[in-house]
Amino acid sequence: MKFVSTRGGIAPTSLDIALAAGLAPDGGLYVPAHIPQLAVQHAGATLADTATTVLAPWFAESKLQSQLAELCKNAYDFPAPLRSLSMPNDHLLELFHGPTAAFKDYAARFLAGCLSHLRDPAATIPTTILVATSGDTGAAVGAAFHRREGFSVAILYPDGRVSPRQAHGLGCFGDNVHAYRVDGSFDDCQRVVKQALTDIDLRTRVPLGSANSISLGRLLPQTAYYAHAALEFRARHGVPLNFIIPTGNLGNALACWLAKRMGLPIGGIVLASNANDVLPRYFGGDEYAPHATIATLANAMDVGAPSNFERLRWWHHDDSELRTSMRAFSVDDATIRDTIRHAPDRHGVVPCPHTATALHVLERLRADGDIRPWAVVATAHPAKFETIVEPLVGHPVDPPPALAAALALPATSTPLEADIAALRSALQQE
Ligand SMILES: *Cc1c(COP(=O)(O)O)cnc(C)c1O
Repeated sequence: MKFVSTRGGIAPTSLDIALAAGLAPDGGLYVPAHIPQLAVQHAGATLADTATTVLAPWFAESKLQSQLAELCKNAYDFPAPLRSLSMPNDHLLELFHGPTAAFKDYAARFLAGCLSHLRDPAATIPTTILVATSGDTGAAVGAAFHRREGFSVAILYPDGRVSPRQAHGLGCFGDNVHAYRVDGSFDDCQRVVKQALTDIDLRTRVPLGSANSISLGRLLPQTAYYAHAALEFRARHGVPLNFIIPTGNLGNALACWLAKRMGLPIGGIVLASNANDVLPRYFGGDEYAPHATIATLANAMDVGAPSNFERLRWWHHDDSELRTSMRAFSVDDATIRDTIRHAPDRHGVVPCPHTATALHVLERLRADGDIRPWAVVATAHPAKFETIVEPLVGHPVDPPPALAAALALPATSTPLEADIAALRSALQQE
């Protein structure tokens, strides 16, 4: 399997090079030259075994091929249960049972395992994993690389735009993980990280790696839980499962689309956006028009220029074909609040603000007469956003054990201006 760039400026390259580089040298995103079809598709496997099966075609020529099963066993070692909600055909795919209580733990842990194995054993300077985060990526990547030999992590997050518990979760690692609170938005963080990763001069002095959702090593492993849920569902009910996915940078939803294209029994894919409605507008027929980020209650989805759109577009001939691949809806903050408030009664769950956007989209589909089985993807545990969720549901939401342990640690972060010169000097001092 060869990988090319969405910008067309590189020769086809191996998975191992693409994983280590993060961003293609021409500034584009790595994409597989073709999408393999999955021959073996059976239910009853563990999540880790399904992951191994689904990821195997991508790793066919990789140095990591023989370690794939073990990498999957280590990364997918917590469950992704598909839970029934109150009404028939309504389901919740819970992806928040990992160390930082968000779905990003799966891919971050898988990528960290890959990069450890790919690292040159003779290298003396640690590789700095650079990560821009709107909250949850940074924690997942920090946790995945914490105390990992040969690596350090620099997390950039928008100051004041993550929840207090998220900020704590970013700054609590210590050791080889450094948190920078950036004076700017998530898009600013992402821009500076992209600039650093394409700065040849900097990279000769500080070996850099990427773990953002633009990294292929984040995208591919996210196909596994969709495959697993869809296979189990078809085995039990005989029909494909449809997914509603809280969306920001479009990484998680693109993985679902990729799993569908590999032939897995996935029906409709619907994106739930917050007030950052560039995707709903596009899928509704408007031009693709990135805008400045709007801060919302679902902050991990505060993205005005979803990076993975470039991949989605690359995979389609034109806009009209692309617009048939999925639908997208925008949900404002007032509706997010309302959905959280009524979710215990209506659905039998307490959702985080991100999950609430998708729950609301489900309510809309039902109101329009859609009776198909839908899985709302629960991207984070509600206890991560307790300052929003608790007043709305009227009772405390207990953090899961791993989150509680992180909150008990002290946390620190360093202020950083939103420009490449500031980041360059910070990285050279580390
Ligand atoms: C990152 C994140 C999202 C958005 O996922 P994308 O892959 O960026 O679309 C949604 N919800 C939560 C809780 C997240 O952490």
